Amino acid sequence: MALKYSNKINKIRSVALGLIFAGMIIMYIGLFFRNTEWLMLVFMMLGVVAIGLSTVIYFWIGMLSTKAVPIQCPECGKSTKMLGRVDACMFCKQPLTLDKDLEGKEFDEKYNSKNYIKEQKKES
Ligand SMILES: [Zn+2]
Repeated sequence: MALKYSNKINKIRSVALGLIFAGMIIMYIGLFFRNTEWLMLVFMMLGVVAIGLSTVIYFWIGMLSTKAVPIQCPECGKSTKMLGRVDACMFCKQPLTLDKDLEGKEFDEKYNSKNYIKEQKKES
């Protein structure tokens, strides 16, 4: 079963890492415009903003991690962290759930949405 889903914490972390690289590349591009001072400044600012944003995201991950539930993956046996009702293992991408009602059901990201939870409550 090919799953296009990955662990949320890992996903956010790779976004933050990507932003750091993007920021560095943007600043590097800025160096090519040394003769046009304002353009160079714009690139530098953008680069700083990108890196600053990734720092914020890293802080955010830190806060999320404290809320994440540490569990042992039944598939690979490693300890992983999950966010929300459904998430995937950090290592083998095995779909995991904390909700007994969802066990055995086909994995779907919609189980994390507030609307879906509301609708389910209405039904029952
Ligand atoms: Zn696993």
